[in-house]
Amino acid sequence: MEKFYNQLLQNNKDWVASKLNEDPEFFNKLAKGQKPPLLWIGCADSRVPANEITGTPPGEVFVHRNIANMVVHTDMNMLSVLDYAVNVLEVRHVIVCGHYGCGGVQAAMSNKRVGLIDNWLRHIKDVYRLHADELDSIEDEHDRFNRFVEVNVIEQVLDLAKTSIIQNAWDNKRPLMVHGWVYDIKNGLIKDLGVNAADSTQLDHYYRLEAMQ
Ligand SMILES: [Zn+2]
Repeated sequence: MEKFYNQLLQNNKDWVASKLNEDPEFFNKLAKGQKPPLLWIGCADSRVPANEITGTPPGEVFVHRNIANMVVHTDMNMLSVLDYAVNVLEVRHVIVCGHYGCGGVQAAMSNKRVGLIDNWLRHIKDVYRLHADELDSIEDEHDRFNRFVEVNVIEQVLDLAKTSIIQNAWDNKRPLMVHGWVYDIKNGLIKDLGVNAADSTQLDHYYRLEAMQ
């Protein structure tokens, strides 16, 4: 255990040395500030590291992660990250990235009591309810699990678009796109689900916000 812990600090020293070897100004440049073009909302799963799988260096991706990449509209943590990313950093893309084999989605599919997390998983179960006809019709459990991962991402992209933060940005004609992706842990490839939005036209009318007269 101690060996693993000490190795982390040694790895850090080695990483600093290699970065400085590539570019002596690497850290000086990053210290000046950040202007990432992308906010990533991903799963906390240790196998889905945003920068590594997209080949992006430090400074390019603002990251928020939680269990099963959820956009819960009363989650102050998520809203604070989103507000800062959109209104201060002025990101141009927000990507919700789920992944096949997601433990959170799998737990939400089952009826087992896990603990406190059951209350978080409720949000994912609510997604199942919205897509119950389609999901219940998939006989193969693995296929149903994969599709549940996908529709969960699609609903989180819509939930993003429903936030006041995203809708205000669109009202102000800001170039901002939201996207939904699924990462495949088995082969490392990302699937673009094609649920892109750059305005609120895809939202049901009762979710659309308009300026007060
Ligand atoms: Zn996950």
